[in-house]
Amino acid sequence: MSNALRPRIGVNKDTQFFWDGLKQGQLLIQHCKACDQLQHPPGPCCKHCQSFELDAIESTGRGTIHSFVRMHHPVAPPFESGHPIVLVELEEGTRLIADFINSTPEQVFIGAAVKVAITECDDEVTLALFEPASM
Ligand code: ZN
Repeated sequence: MSNALRPRIGVNKDTQFFWDGLKQGQLLIQHCKACDQLQHPPGPCCKHCQSFELDAIESTGRGTIHSFVRMHHPVAPPFESGHPIVLVELEEGTRLIADFINSTPEQVFIGAAVKVAITECDDEVTLALFEPASM
């Protein structure tokens, strides 16, 4: 296992709430107060109605694998060759990309039930990783 750190997260005024939520153990989704739509990744305004009246809701953290890839090349520590990266469709309808952990190759397939595993990777980085829902 490598001692290399994960890449640093990109934090700005539009995404600060998302990263702060993870530090507090919550997976948050940006919500438009004007049209009641959700969106991810967060942005400065609603992608549906362009309103700036945004807040956030807490996701259940449950969803399904919409798609996935296995990262083989290039090998870039701390990631291991062949690790799965999933596009998760949350129960709330938004999607996000994350590493898939604590899984066997047989558990990585489109439609598989997954749940969030909020993970403190180091002092600076807390991420929403996903794992099989049966974990
Ligand atoms: Zn809106």
